[in-house]
Amino acid sequence: AREAALKEAAADAYTADGKRIQTFANIGSLNDIELAVKNHAEGVGLFRTEFLYLESDHWPTEEEQYQAYAKVLSAFNGRPVVIRTLDIGGDKDLPYADLPKEENPFLGHRAIRYCLANPDVFKTQLKALLRASVHGNLWIMFPMIENLSEIRAAKALLEECRQELTSAGTEVADDIKVGIMIEVPAAAVTADLLAKEVDFMSIGTNDLTQYTLAADRGNEQVAHLYDAAHPAVLRLVKMTCDAADQAGILVGMCGELAGDVTMTEILVGLGLHELSMSASAIPEVKQRVRLIDSAKAKALADKALQLEDGDQVRALIHSQQ
Ligand code: PEP
Ligand code: MG
Repeated sequence: AREAALKEAAADAYTADGKRIQTFANIGSLNDIELAVKNHAEGVGLFRTEFLYLESDHWPTEEEQYQAYAKVLSAFNGRPVVIRTLDIGGDKDLPYADLPKEENPFLGHRAIRYCLANPDVFKTQLKALLRASVHGNLWIMFPMIENLSEIRAAKALLEECRQELTSAGTEVADDIKVGIMIEVPAAAVTADLLAKEVDFMSIGTNDLTQYTLAADRGNEQVAHLYDAAHPAVLRLVKMTCDAADQAGILVGMCGELAGDVTMTEILVGLGLHELSMSASAIPEVKQRVRLIDSAKAKALADKALQLEDGDQVRALIHSQQ
């Protein structure tokens, strides 16, 4: 029995009716790799590169970044590894970056906005990623995307970096996937347009919730309003999943909601193909996935979308058990 249980924990997750749901790990530092591998993550759905910058007293060099990216790609042995480009600004400051003070940092010059405005910083990271691509299955993800021109500009810089590297004789993988985070309501609402430009989308519910409900994710005073299970957020998730299906691309979720096992059935019902979470949540979420019937999950999700608030969604889930 013990052997069977170990085998099941190691296996990929499928619903009871045979639909593959990929359970990936979120990685916030190189130390997280070990538990992710131990808990049989099927890949990495969000490698937050900020730690490389936050733990450093200078802009991390291309070589320093290359080492870190090569390490995580090798550890996952050909499984997908989604590495997110720098998501700085908002609540994350960098002393050596000399970021101007902003009245509303979460609505300000952060993430892809900062990177597109600072191509030297961005290109250093993109080159490190491209160089590391030969060590595994690299998926590059751009954060805080709000419109199509940001995607096109980021992809153009990526292409520029590829050409600079290959013309200098450096080897770069030719099957790197390029995707975006959906964490701004505008991106969810126009996901059908954005989906045409990318290989995958991943929903960041932490930011998507704060922007949809206009409730700062770190402010105690509005914590009662901040609820990722709010039907307004779930409707945006549904729009994104539908757009991904229309375009025939993969859609995942890498915000905290993806690791909430009480939500797994609704998330599968909304149409997510991949859930990325802290590695400690993976065994339980995999077990949960195996109990799900996709048709029932879809009916449950459709019901949730019609409810008034997150409390009603949780009551609905509770009434099913
Ligand atoms: C998110 O916003 O949901 C997300 C995964 O990104 P971060 O928490 O790093 O902002
Ligand atoms: Mg985010």
